[in-house]
Amino acid sequence: MTVLVQHETSHLFNAPEGGYWCYEHPECVMNYCWAALHGTDIWCNSCREIVNEKIRGNLMVYTL
Ligand SMILES: [Zn+2]
Ligand SMILES: [Zn+2]
Repeated sequence: MTVLVQHETSHLFNAPEGGYWCYEHPECVMNYCWAALHGTDIWCNSCREIVNEKIRGNLMVYTL
């Protein structure tokens, strides 16, 4: 998937908007500059935690 799809999908997992300029946010797909200009397809530590928490929560719902 493209980084912009990954970005939008991440919002579904509660990840916040990471800002526009690279200096506003560590290297992360949630930041426009990192994602669109640098092709970054990873999350920073804080966004990854948010996404992982949401995925874990969904998996628990599915297995109940
Ligand atoms: Zn966004
Ligand atoms: Zn981030």
